[in-house]
Amino acid sequence: MTASSSKGSALITGASSGIGAVYADRLARRGYDLILVARNRGRLDDLAKRLNDETGRTVRVVAADLNDKVDLGRIETLLRTDAGMTVLVNNAGVAAVMPLLNSDVDAMDDMITLNVRALTRLTYAAAPGFVTRGGGTIINIASVVGIAPESLNGVYGASKAYVIALSQSLHKELADKNVRVQAVLPGATATDLWAKAGRPVEHLPNEIVMSTGDMVDAALAGLDQGELVTIPALPDAADWQAYEAARQKLLPNLSRKTPAERYRARAAA
Ligand code: NAP
Repeated sequence: MTASSSKGSALITGASSGIGAVYADRLARRGYDLILVARNRGRLDDLAKRLNDETGRTVRVVAADLNDKVDLGRIETLLRTDAGMTVLVNNAGVAAVMPLLNSDVDAMDDMITLNVRALTRLTYAAAPGFVTRGGGTIINIASVVGIAPESLNGVYGASKAYVIALSQSLHKELADKNVRVQAVLPGATATDLWAKAGRPVEHLPNEIVMSTGDMVDAALAGLDQGELVTIPALPDAADWQAYEAARQKLLPNLSRKTPAERYRARAAA
């Protein structure tokens, strides 16, 4: 296939499997050249070759462990210095399903390092160039557990709540600079993430599990519609809008000189 003119480069973390590999496929077909990042070079090379053959796009592979400071620094440098970069997909992540009391704190620490620290540093590396060049897109893969932290491991949920909060803040800060930010909140999606966390996806009820193709196609439709937050499974967008409106209604009253009346009765007594 002959490549048409490029829309610039999309860097996708965690592209060696699952959701990230599907983003690679879809963004190549949308006309982006790709930079694929993950630890498993063999899988990245196979995907790069297939996508290059099928789409004609340029696909580079950078094997990196984003929990390793030196490796992460190499990806940050790439994002900072490659003027052709137009999209960052912060997708690499790990999950946990065990409750806090049954989880190893070092594993939790590693999860925070990948889901929060790496995502933050890569965002910091990409955003200034997008602003300087007058445009760019940051897609952050969060999770529905970011707004339902009671449903799986609390550190996993909290790491995804961070991703949502960071995305909301960045959206506000960068909107007038033509930098798009999207937080994607998948529900259960059929990937190896579940088996790696100790609960294979086959053990979940079939009706709550979405295919990776459907998930990413819905998320990209949400991006096309200009959404800041996309929840692929949520049937009625009005439910999210009501939740968000309730949050916005709180904002003017969250910081005041005096405590609320209900907390003053005891002091006065
Ligand atoms: P996955 O198939 O396990 O993919 C995770 C990707 O992250 C892999 O490409 C993996 O590649 C990469 N990765 C893991 N540790 C890494 C590290 N230290 N350095 C660099 N890359 C690393 O799982 P997935 O479901 O597609 O997960 C993608 C994102 O979706 C995650 O952020 C996850 O939290 C989120 N999500 C998933 C679900 C779900 O139900 N599956 C639901 C909501 C949100 P290597 O092993 O080759 O490094």
